[in-house]
Amino acid sequence: NLQSTTTLHNGIKMPWFGLGVFKVEEGSEVVNSVKAAIDAGYRSIDTAAIYGNEEGVGKAIAESNVPREELFITTKVWNSAQGYESTLLAFEESMKKLGLEYLDLYLIHWPVPKLNKYKETWRALEKLYKDGRIRAIGVSNFKEYHLKDLLETCEIKPMVNQVEYHPRLTQTSLHEFCKQNEIQLEAWSPLMQGGLFEEPTLNEIANKYNKSVAQIILRWDLQNEVVTIPKSIKPHRIQENADIFDFEISEEDMNKISSLNQDQRVGSDPDEMD
Ligand code: NAD
Repeated sequence: NLQSTTTLHNGIKMPWFGLGVFKVEEGSEVVNSVKAAIDAGYRSIDTAAIYGNEEGVGKAIAESNVPREELFITTKVWNSAQGYESTLLAFEESMKKLGLEYLDLYLIHWPVPKLNKYKETWRALEKLYKDGRIRAIGVSNFKEYHLKDLLETCEIKPMVNQVEYHPRLTQTSLHEFCKQNEIQLEAWSPLMQGGLFEEPTLNEIANKYNKSVAQIILRWDLQNEVVTIPKSIKPHRIQENADIFDFEISEEDMNKISSLNQDQRVGSDPDEMD
């Protein structure tokens, strides 16, 4: 069901499904979206310092009737805050805005190879983890070679890698590498930011299962063992996106969806992001 979890390599349980709040406005928009999601049974929320809506996320959590320990909250350190001391500071700022005593998952938002600071940044995440401030630590937008480089020197292996992932970008070799290293893959822009709703194969499969294209894609994520965090601010879509636990896509249809891959991004290439 909606609250089913994957167990990260340190034993912490992370929901397979959650709400993303990228481009959701601070204030009532984000508060209402997070509340609608929690009411619909969501337990995982994905925000980031750069989204500028951590206060609203925190407000919705505080006002919800769900105990804190049943929720799984992710935020991310932004590129300009990378570095050891600056990451420690950025973390405190995020925690103050979120109004939380501990965080579930903290991610390095982008590797920014040109900056060459992700190893230092990682050391700060390791410290916060060892101090008991965060239950799990991970990265985002790390390609295989960034991960290999980090794995050479890190003390604690990342538990999660959150990357762009959808039927047009199936990340097969990165996914394989993550599995080998016990790093849980998590999909951002799982719906390709709305760019897949007209796709004929997906529509054909959606009709066959009597589900929407969004539901087919999100179910495909789960069957591929990829954590997924679709964004919506509309309560009926927030509910629709979560209604994916009552059917199964056949192996043949899973393969049809995966064969739509074109290695096509809607977001930035991690090597070009600064
Ligand atoms: P998404 O792929 O989740 O698409 C969201 C858009 O699809 C919404 O704006 C909405 O208009 C539409 N939509 C959602 N559900 C729908 C439905 N059932 N029917 C029709 N339309 C629907 O896009 P996203 O927001 O980019 O990605 C999801 C989350 O991933 C973000 O909110 C954020 O939390 C995370 N993210 C992380 C990074 C990163 O660098 N780590 C980058 C981008 C996004």
